[in-house]
Amino acid sequence: MARDTLSKLRAAVRDVPDFPKAGIIFKDITPILKDGALFRSSVDIFLRQLHDKRIDKIVGIDARGFLFGSAVAYELGIGFVPLRKKGRLPYRTESARYSLEYGEAEMELHIDAIERGERIVLIDDLLATGGTSASAATLIKKIGGDLTEAIFLIELEFLHGREKLVPTPVTSFLKY
Ligand code: AMP
Repeated sequence: MARDTLSKLRAAVRDVPDFPKAGIIFKDITPILKDGALFRSSVDIFLRQLHDKRIDKIVGIDARGFLFGSAVAYELGIGFVPLRKKGRLPYRTESARYSLEYGEAEMELHIDAIERGERIVLIDDLLATGGTSASAATLIKKIGGDLTEAIFLIELEFLHGREKLVPTPVTSFLKY
């Protein structure tokens, strides 16, 4: 991916201080989403990372992981699985609790979302402490998925979230 594209994406990410609570600098990606060319290039960098790889499904994390994950799954012609906050999925679920940079939460996955042995790629907008993705990884494996890698548009490196995902390979494009 051209360095120019990455710098345009980086320039579009908006820092919102003290959201959703004091001390957090929220990385707002809506300026990328509202710009057709930027949105397309943000999806393209995920696609480039997955070029020529054998993947069965994308799991996207509620809610911004759905935006990139579903676009990637559509383009690759593979299935998309939403990993949702507790209480949103209608059918039987597996769930896992975890702690966030700004709170506590519980995520759920439909028990029949993934077939045993399917090769899964996890996608979200941002890797912070890694709590969300680590619980996603646990859930994916619990229902039989083979998590081959995790990809994020943004990584807050100072929070060392990727350490929680070991041994899953982690890729991010905009590092802070
Ligand atoms: P974590 O579990 O700490 O890695 O948090 C990752 C999840 O929380 C992702 O779904 C992000 O969208 C969201 N998140 C955490 N911190 C931020 C932040 N500073 N800016 C934007 N989103 C964040």
